[in-house]
Amino acid sequence: MARKKRTFMDKIAKGTGPRGEKCPKCGEILQAVKIVRPYKTDKGSWRYLEEMVRVCKCNQKELLVDKPIS
Ligand SMILES: [Zn+2]
Repeated sequence: MARKKRTFMDKIAKGTGPRGEKCPKCGEILQAVKIVRPYKTDKGSWRYLEEMVRVCKCNQKELLVDKPIS
């Protein structure tokens, strides 16, 4: 079986939380999602940063890209 690339959907699969709050901009229901981002420390080791975000159409695109943390 081919190994699937990690996608945004994999990231939000963990997402839970209350639903029903709508984005005033696009009208989509906001989903509270925990995103785990790996980042490299000055000493060269990897750490993970957990971040709770509200996702809708407006910022979904942005979150698709793994931004480096500096
Ligand atoms: Zn929106």
